This record gives sequence, structure tokens and C-alpha cells, in this order.
Amino acid sequence: MKLLAPNVLRLLISAAALLLASTSLATSSFSTVVIDPGHGGFDRGGIPGQLVPEKNVALDTALRLQRLLQQAGLHTVLTRSTDVFIPLPQRAAIANAQPQSIFVSIHYNAARRQGAHGIETYFEDSRGAALAARIQRQIISRVSTDNRGIRHATYYVLRKCQKPAVLVECGFLTNPGEAQLALTARYRQMVAEQIAAGILEQRHFAFPAPIDRTPRKKHHKSYRLARKSD
Ligand SMILES: [Zn+2]
Repeated sequence: MKLLAPNVLRLLISAAALLLASTSLATSSFSTVVIDPGHGGFDRGGIPGQLVPEKNVALDTALRLQRLLQQAGLHTVLTRSTDVFIPLPQRAAIANAQPQSIFVSIHYNAARRQGAHGIETYFEDSRGAALAARIQRQIISRVSTDNRGIRHATYYVLRKCQKPAVLVECGFLTNPGEAQLALTARYRQMVAEQIAAGILEQRHFAFPAPIDRTPRKKHHKSYRLARKSD
């Protein structure tokens, strides 16, 4: 067998590398992050009687995240930048109007049991799961609390958003210790930095194809079974 001349081989290798680079860039690239601070206006978030309103700390964390992402060269869009109530369909519509975007909703958790604490990140499809895993891992690497993991949920904004979408619960405001932390700028900055790190990490990787959830398809069943175990 006749071997290819080294320069032809080199040319072929660089052409293949270029092709690979351009395809992976095409699948992974997003240039806009739609940041959605939960609640606002008359909707304080959390549960009745909760002392620390969720809407304020969610907005401040979101604004910090926006600054960090802008510094990293990403385009950002906020669903709200002041203390106003934005209906959920409008939040999803804002996200869906942005080409090449991802959607990151910022919330703080609440529970009737004061002891409940920790961080968890929600997703609706396989693309959201990939992003949620990176964000969750980044936050847990710096915030020493319970790692409640990534969880599947059919929250309205996640379901209606056609882009890779996650909802981050940045700690329990009903837990005295975590509420005290959430009230410090230092904690909110740290959480924002870790969410930003997860987002920037995702830029290097392609999103998995969104799993088709149409009934009667084989993989649909296994996906539902997989969800049950989490
Ligand atoms: Zn919330």
C-alpha cells in the first residue's frame, strides 16, 4: 500500500480538525444568557410568613450574575431588573425571542421545616440537565452546604422555554443559617460567580440533543423511568 506524502497527510489532518472544530462550535455555541430573577412586585416568593423576601435576594444575585457574564463577553437579557411582577408566559417569551440563548432562572428555596437547607438546580430536558449539572457542581465546590443535586421539574418557565433552561435554588431562606448568609452581599456574589463559572464552562461543550418526549417512542419510556429514580 502506497503511503500518502507527509504534506498531503498533514493537510488532511488539519482539514479534519477544522471540520470537527466548526461542527462542535456550531452545536455548543450560545452567545446570550437570559437571566430570570424569580418573583417580584406583589409576589414576594417563598412561603407565607417567611421573613426574608425571596424576590430581593433573587434580583440582586441575578444582577451580579449579569455583570459577571457581561465581563466575560456574553450578551445578557434580564426578564426583570427592578421590583416588578412579570407573568410567567412573558418570561418564557423573552427567552424564546433570543436566538442562540440559554435561560437561567434564579430563586431561593423555602420549606416548612426550618432544618431544610442546601442547593438544588432544576431542569426540564437533557440540555437543561447538562447545564444544571455544571452549575450545581460549581456552586457546591465553594458553598459548603447540602448538595441536593439536580432535579427534573416541569415548572412553567422551564417547560415553555425552547432553549436550554435551568432554575437554580440558591439556598433556603426558611433556614436561619442560610437566610443569614443570603442577606450578605458576599454570599450572593459567591453564588453568582459560581453560576457564571458553570455557564462559561458549558460554552466549551455541545448540548446533548433534546430528547423527543413524543409518546410511543422507545427512548421516551426509558427517559421517564430514569427521571423517576432521581
Ligand atoms: Zn422562587
